[in-house]
Amino acid sequence: MINIKNLHKSFGDLQVLKGIDLKVEQGKVIVLIGPSGSGKTTFLRCLNLLEIPTDGTIELDKKSMNFTKPVRKKDITSFRSLTGMVFQNYNLFPHKSALENVMEGPVIVKGVSTQEAEKRGKELLTRVGLGDKLDFYPFQLSGGQQQRVGIARAMAMDPKVMLFDEPTSALDPELVGDVLQAMKDLAKEGMTMVVVTHEMRFAREVADEVIFMDQGVIMERGTPDQIFSNPQQERTRQFLNMIH
Ligand code: ATP
Repeated sequence: MINIKNLHKSFGDLQVLKGIDLKVEQGKVIVLIGPSGSGKTTFLRCLNLLEIPTDGTIELDKKSMNFTKPVRKKDITSFRSLTGMVFQNYNLFPHKSALENVMEGPVIVKGVSTQEAEKRGKELLTRVGLGDKLDFYPFQLSGGQQQRVGIARAMAMDPKVMLFDEPTSALDPELVGDVLQAMKDLAKEGMTMVVVTHEMRFAREVADEVIFMDQGVIMERGTPDQIFSNPQQERTRQFLNMIH
C-alpha cells in the first residue's frame, strides 16, 4: 500500500529527514512516536506532499513519486488526493457548518454533486457521533467535536490512507476519548492509518507497528509490545521513561 524509500527532507541547511524507509501494508495502523523536533510532522507532511521531499521515493496505492527530479503540480494534486490528513488544530473553515465543511472537498475538488456530497457528509458525521450537529458552526462545537468533523472531512475524500498529526494534543483531557474512539472505529473498518500521537494507550491498543523516530531517522520499530515492554535502543528507553 505504502512504500517509502530513502526519504529525505531539508529546510535550507537543516536536514530534518535523513533517509526514511518504510513499508505499510493495507489496513495497518502505524503509530509514530519520538521527541519534539525529531521530524514526525515533517514526515507526515511529506506523505501528503504538503512538504515536497528533497530526495527519495514514495509509492502509494500504485502511484509513485520520485523526488530526485522536480515534481509537477498536477502530480502533487492527484497524489495528495490519496491521503486524508487530520491536523492538530482541526483547520476547519470557521464560516461553514459541520456538514458544509465535510461537503466542501468532494464538491469543489472532486466535482461530486451537492446532493451526493450532502448524503455522504451526513453519513460520515453520524458515524463520528455528530449526526445531531450537522448545522453547527465550528465555534459552537467543542474541540473534540471539531476534531471529529476534521476526521469526517478527511474521510469524505475517500482516501486510501489517513494521516493523523497529534489529533488529540490540543484537546482537554475529557474530550480525547471520543476522538480516539472515532479513530479506533476507522482502524476496525480496515483503514490504513499513520498516526503521530503521544497517546501511548492508543498505540498499545490499536497500532500494528510502533515506530520510534529520532533526529530524522527511524531508530527502532516493532509491535507495541516490543517497543513498550522491551525496547532495544537506549534512546527509545530514555524517551519512554521521559513520557511515562
Ligand atoms: P513535535 O513533536 O514538536 O511536533 P516533530 O517531531 O513533529 O516535533 P517537526 O515538526 O517535523 O518535528 O520538525 C522537525 C524540525 O524541522 C524542527 O527542527 C523544525 O524546526 C524544522 N522545521 C519544520 N518545518 C519547517 C519549515 N517549514 N521550515 C524550516 N524548518 C522547519
